[in-house]
Formats: sequence, C-alpha cells, structure tokens
Amino acid sequence: DLVTIRRALLSVSDKQGLIEFATALSKLGVELLSTGGTARAIAEAGLPVRDVSDVTGFPEIMDGRVKTLHPGVHGGLLAIRDDAEHAEAMQKHGIVPIDLAVINLYPFEEVRAKGADYETSVENIDIGGPAMIRAAAKNHAYVTIVTDPEDYGAVLEGLEAHSGALPLAARKELAAKAYARTAAYDAAISGWFAEALDLPAPRHRSFAGKLKTVMRYGENPHQQAGFYVTGEHRPGVATATLHQGKALSYNNINDTDAAFELVSEFAAASGPACAIIKHANPCGVAVGPSALEAYRKALVCDQTSAFGGIVALNTELDAEAARAITEIFIEVIIAPSATEEAMAIVAAKKNLRLMTTGALADPAAAGMTVRSVAGGLLVQNRDNALVDQMDLKIVTKRAPSETELADLRFAFRVAKHVKSNAIVYAKHGATVGIGAGQMSRVDSARIAARKAIDAAEVLGLPEPLTRGSVVASDAFFPFADGLLTAIEAGATAVIQPGGSMRDDEVIAAADEAGIAMVFTGVRHFRH
Ligand code: 5GP
Repeated sequence: DLVTIRRALLSVSDKQGLIEFATALSKLGVELLSTGGTARAIAEAGLPVRDVSDVTGFPEIMDGRVKTLHPGVHGGLLAIRDDAEHAEAMQKHGIVPIDLAVINLYPFEEVRAKGADYETSVENIDIGGPAMIRAAAKNHAYVTIVTDPEDYGAVLEGLEAHSGALPLAARKELAAKAYARTAAYDAAISGWFAEALDLPAPRHRSFAGKLKTVMRYGENPHQQAGFYVTGEHRPGVATATLHQGKALSYNNINDTDAAFELVSEFAAASGPACAIIKHANPCGVAVGPSALEAYRKALVCDQTSAFGGIVALNTELDAEAARAITEIFIEVIIAPSATEEAMAIVAAKKNLRLMTTGALADPAAAGMTVRSVAGGLLVQNRDNALVDQMDLKIVTKRAPSETELADLRFAFRVAKHVKSNAIVYAKHGATVGIGAGQMSRVDSARIAARKAIDAAEVLGLPEPLTRGSVVASDAFFPFADGLLTAIEAGATAVIQPGGSMRDDEVIAAADEAGIAMVFTGVRHFRH
C-alpha cells in the first residue's frame, strides 16, 4: 500500500510553510508542478518547478479562473495506476500521474469574515482547487492529498520514514480531512449567499465549519471537542483576539459567546453595559455611566455566582473597570477593545483571558443558530427580535411610569438571553434577580426572588432589591401564580408576551395588586 511519490502538484493561496515543504520534496527527488503564484514563489526560492500549463499545454486563462481545470491535471490525479485502460488513456493523451497534491483554497472564509463586498466574495470562490482536492482524495488509493500547511511536517516525516511514500492509512486520513475541508468551504459559500441575498432560513444553505481549534476536552473531561468556524461576518468569540491567558475551553467559548451576544444588545451609543455570565446564563447585567459602574451594578445582582464567571462589556475596557473586575476570580473578559493601561492591569492575572472583538455584534442581524439532536441538526434564524421595535400594549388599569418602562425594556432584553423559563427582575438599569432554566415559570420567579434575598444578606441591605423592581417573563404566565410570586417579591410592573388562555386571570391579578403590565406580543424562548 505504499506509492512512491514522484510528482507533486502544489497550488496554494496560503503560502505559509510552502518553501520549506517544497524544498524537502525536491530533495526527495519529487518533481514539482505548480500554478501561477505558487510556481513563482517556488522558483524564487531557487527550486526547480514546472508550470502546470507546461503539462496541460494550455495557458492559465481568465485571471486564473481556469488554470488547473484540465484533463491533463484531473487525469493525472484520478487515474487508477494499475488499470490497463486507464494506463492506455494516459499514454494516448500524454497524461502524467500526479502522486501528491498540495492545495489550499482561496481564502473565502477569511474574506467573508472581514465583510468583503459581493464581487470580492464571488471572486474568492475557488473552483479548480476544490475540484483537485476532491479528485485527489477520491483517488487516495494512489494519491496523497494535503490541504493544511500544519500537516506538511507530518507528511514529510512519513515520506522520510517510508523512502518517499506514505502508507495507505495516512492517505485515507488525509483524504477524510480533505473532504471536511471542501464541505466546510461550500457550506461557508452557501451561508454567505443566504446572508447576502437575505434568503429565508434553512432552505438555501448547508451547515459545516472549518476546524479552528481542538480543545483539551469538551463539556466534561471525558469528551473530545473542537471549535469549528463558519466564516460568518459577525464580531464575537469566533473572531476575537485573545490577548493573554491559556486557550479557551469548550465551556469558556460557550459562556463567552453568551456574554458577548448579551452585551451586544446594548448599543454602544446608549452607554456602557456589562454582563456577567455563568453556565451560559447571566448572573448580573447592568447599564451605567461608565464601564466600572455598569460592572459594579451587574455584580451586585449575584456576587456569589459571579465567582469564576465571564465578564462582557459593550464598551472599551478601561483601567478602572479592569482594576475592579480583577478583584475577584473571573475566567474571561470580552469587550470590543481595551486600553493599554487596562491590558497592563489584566496582565497581572496570568490565567485571566482577555479578548477583544473590534466591534459589537448587530443584535438585529439575521443569521442562523444550529444545535444537534441525535442524527441531525436543528436550524433556525437567530432570535433577532428587539424590544425597542415591539408594539408594547398596556393591559392593566395602571400604566407603567417612564422609569418603570425603561426598566421593563431592559429586563425583557436581558430575559431574551436567559434560558427558559426565564424571569428577570430589574431596577435602575440593573438586574436584581434572575431565575433561569426551570421547568416551571413559578419556580423561576421564586428562585429569582430568593436570590435577591440572599444578595441582600451578602450586601447587608435592609431589604431585597426586588422591592420596587419590575419583572420580565420570556413567555406568558400560564396562570396567575407566577405573577403573584413576582408581586410578592416587590415587583410593581411586568413585561411579558401575553397570549395565554388565562390572560384575563393574570391581568385581573395585576389590577388587583395595582401594578402595571405590558404585553410585547413576542416571545423569547431560549433553551
Ligand atoms: P496561485 O497562487 O498558485 O496562482 O493560485 C493558487 C490558488 O489557485 C489555490 O488556492 C488553488 O486552489 C487555486 N486554483 C488552482 N487551480 C484553479 C482553477 O482552475 N480555478 C480556480 N478558480 N482556482 C484554482
């Protein structure tokens, strides 16, 4: 199962490691064929290289759109070496076998992630590259396909160990990786199209990602895990710069994403906002006049749970905020940017990760979410509904005051990012009690109120902060009991979608207590 590599075709957009690899191949006596820019780079390094046009007898045409799409190349990649008819066809048409293909594609995902315009994106759709990768991978019985510069070293080691050949098992593994690459590539293209053309959710696209990192483990240490990126043009955890600290774990990435998506709900222009996340749920969210104040207010909600959490800001991390955040154990800070002084303060905590994204994500953007179920993927549009655009309907005798209304909007915005059943109490632009992920809404209301009582104890307050707060529910109250729990905790105004069979009962209970209630008509389930 060893095929000695006599001829290689190299055609790469990402030229890292190319010259070292080509030099080593050349030393092993491998003839090098190559395309335009790749051939030039190899020749400039002083290595012997033949242009593919020389093999095909056909020039590169149409700005490189057609360079390797030729039977001379594809015949050389696809021929079954020990098949008499194939051999005869090669002979007859002057096709030479290609034993090794080293190909990486036009950087479509990178170009997309940068938000390139339509034409630039289209130009970056590689045609000949995927065709060659797929051909070489199909013919792995004879051909070695290398699509990742990170594999050059291992391939060379293999070749050196087997006198210029690679074992079949290694060729198969490389072929599997090659198809993962072309699948991710086409999925990125289909995703871009769906986005660019504003096509309705899942019908026009497929889902796959390019492996970015392999994590030490998954949700638990006995699970293997990786982070696949889609090239979606959306600032966030996939494209953020990690300035310090060790690589993020599976849970860190999940939580950091939840944190940044939540703060991105708060436009930078409307002032600083801060979210503290644990296990993908917020344990405190607040807006404030500065990053520091927003953080302090967020922390008050549930200081106990914030330990070991993730902090996200919608604004630049400055020195003041950095100093306060580093006072307790925090896993990750993510923000659009950070001042040099803030970075220096964070640097004192070696294990703390600091990530900057360059910008906030657009909460109104379309885009998709994907989750796996046994044997499939569940796909839907992002929940991009914004409370500011909802038609709020006052359903009680009492209308909310201006202050209550602002807090109601704030609370509903946060509730969108809390696992259902979600109950969020808020006051003065800060959460004061969050109940998440319970199977019963009344339990979420109780837990949130209970946590506010605990927080008051920790902070030495005379009464829980839910007194005189407002409350948001991500979905309607099916019965009055959940609402009554919130009223008991001290809520004076409520925001919820409405739409229950028993809305009348719930409204009557609100009126009886003299509180204000608004319906959004929009639900924010999040599971
Ligand atoms: P080079 O830098 O060598 O001029 O171009 C290398 C890139 O061209 C690689 O990313 C490779 O996948 C791509 N490529 C190779 N052949 C073709 C082709 O026939 N058509 C197109 N569109 N791209 C090709």
